[in-house]
Amino acid sequence: MIYREFGKTGMKVSAIGMGCEYVWTADEKTVCEVVRAAVDAGVNYFDLFVGTPTTREHYGEALKGVREKVYLAGHLGCADIEGQYVKTRDEELCQEFMQQLYEKLQTDYLDVLFLHNCDDLEDLDHILNGWMYSYARELKETGHAKLIGISTHNTKIAMEAVKSGKIEVLMFPVNPLFNLLPQDTADARMKGREVKEMTEEEKAAYPTKQELYALCEEMGVPIVAMKPFAAGNILKDHEEGRLKGLLELTPVQCISYILSFPQVACPVPGFASVEELEQSLEYLTATEQERDFSEINDSLVGKFANQCMYCNHCQPCPKQIDIAEVTKLADMAEKEMTEDLKKRYQSLDASGKDCIHCGSCTKRCPFGIDASANMQRAQKLFGC
Ligand code: SF4
Ligand code: SF4
Repeated sequence: MIYREFGKTGMKVSAIGMGCEYVWTADEKTVCEVVRAAVDAGVNYFDLFVGTPTTREHYGEALKGVREKVYLAGHLGCADIEGQYVKTRDEELCQEFMQQLYEKLQTDYLDVLFLHNCDDLEDLDHILNGWMYSYARELKETGHAKLIGISTHNTKIAMEAVKSGKIEVLMFPVNPLFNLLPQDTADARMKGREVKEMTEEEKAAYPTKQELYALCEEMGVPIVAMKPFAAGNILKDHEEGRLKGLLELTPVQCISYILSFPQVACPVPGFASVEELEQSLEYLTATEQERDFSEINDSLVGKFANQCMYCNHCQPCPKQIDIAEVTKLADMAEKEMTEDLKKRYQSLDASGKDCIHCGSCTKRCPFGIDASANMQRAQKLFGC
């Protein structure tokens, strides 16, 4: 394993970390197999972005006996309510979630505590100057959290958070797709506008990712790269999503691209199986040619619009629709409808037909995806 400096924290993290999004529905045996294989390979950074209560429990089992050898990152600012992930700033719900997190992970401390998923300035103000930061400080002072970080998808928010001096670690999307998008796109989308509607002044006022990386370098704040494979959408041999054929990279190329930014400490891909883990570990022994990512270029940018990342940050849905799953199945069906896809879609408890188009998901999507329109698309494709 290659280890990299974790900013100015004095910690060294493995160049390949691990997220938990793809083992959410896995059983204990699978989670233990994947996590232990990762630990055996030298992976020492694990992100516990929400997950289901059972995933957290399985992680606790998987890390028994090796807890001290690894760094664990948890998130404050979310909860699971009636089986759905919910981003919330409700103090009681969040604190209850944290207590359960420690319990289920069988540990009394986290190495990084992320203030979770902040994508607007008002929320940032609320987080940094309200109960969330105070509570995070309290956890730090009592030894239950070592470092305080923030997770965001927005360059401007990330800049403000890092500048505040309160943030020691930044979790931010870094991948060839996200980095090719012009910096103003996310901002415009978040405001429900088209980039072309933005004035030159507005565009110029929006910080570039390079400015953000430089600030992190200056402040010694390490970046943990979320969504390193853009939910698999940019991978070769990946059957899901609509970008196949546009940007067919290998996990090795993606990791190589991400680690080319010295401020990035590690990407945290989600691995659903030991095989997927091994595909990423190939980075360690890959040749220069295999790591080469020079085929990435900005001529493809226009094709990336409206690609869902299947992250479910747009939840909760009043109709209990698993928005990421419905969108993913629609994307796959759009390329080629199969009987298996139909079965998977029909087995969902709620799907496109149940959508009441309230639009709350679309407002919450950090990538500006029209999630409500995707429900309509799914209904049309599957006929229900
Ligand atoms: S619509 Fe947005 S928030 Fe929802 S799953 Fe897709 S990318 Fe994630
Ligand atoms: S628009 Fe549809 S999918 Fe989105 S939250 Fe409302 S009901 Fe759920």
